[in-house]
Amino acid sequence: MNIGLFGGTFDPVHRGHMALARAALERCTLGRIYFVPANMPPHKQRQPLSPFLHRFTMLALATAEEKAFVPSLLEAPEETEFGRKARGSKPEDDKPDNAKPNYTIDTVRRLKQSLKASDKLFLLIGMDAFADIAKWRETEALFRECEFVVAGRPGYSLADVANALPESLRPRAEVTKPFHKQPATGDLVLPGVTIHLLGDLKQPASATAIREAAAAGKPLGRFLDAPVAEYIRKMGLYKAV
Ligand code: ATP
Repeated sequence: MNIGLFGGTFDPVHRGHMALARAALERCTLGRIYFVPANMPPHKQRQPLSPFLHRFTMLALATAEEKAFVPSLLEAPEETEFGRKARGSKPEDDKPDNAKPNYTIDTVRRLKQSLKASDKLFLLIGMDAFADIAKWRETEALFRECEFVVAGRPGYSLADVANALPESLRPRAEVTKPFHKQPATGDLVLPGVTIHLLGDLKQPASATAIREAAAAGKPLGRFLDAPVAEYIRKMGLYKAV
């Protein structure tokens, strides 16, 4: 089976995420997509995040109607039973005050332990996050372990996608030159790299805009489905302090 892994902070999950997941499902005939909220994403450590519990609950609400969409506890906090189970660790290994960042390569390897040899893994990601992919831990290994599904954004070309690759995997500039004006759609297949480009999903939602709207007491229906908007209201999330 083709399986998707979609990581993020999901603070909160919104229509942009759901559009990416639906487009990837169709394009790569995925049988299942795991939505994996990071307890501590390596790149957003300074920004205060909502508690994992709220972000996971919102994901559970957003994915409830889609059979193939599964909220995942693979990056749950270490000091919870779920976090320990995912990591195969014991209570004495807990580091609640000094949580380790969640690296995608570790999550991919952990997930693969529960998959069949015939299963194929696809990593779902937006172009803004993919732009930093060369800085991720063990990027080359990540490209070996899974194919990538990248959602384009207006203004990004195939050449930008290739140029974001770590130097060891990046094609020579002469190779990517003809792709400068092409929108980010189609497939990019290089030695050790397969990237499926979804093009612009035309979903302007961002979690930052939602948090700002919630803090200003504005309605959230434009960005979110009703159950998640209602949860934010009931729990008083993102209120200005
Ligand atoms: P924030 O505004 O807090 O930075 P975000 O809206 O980008 O958050 P994340 O949880 O950080 O949400 O994103 C998870 C993944 O979803 C990332 O790979 C990101 O690029 C992608 N993504 C988020 N919003 C969109 C969107 N509107 N269209 C396409 N991809 C998106």
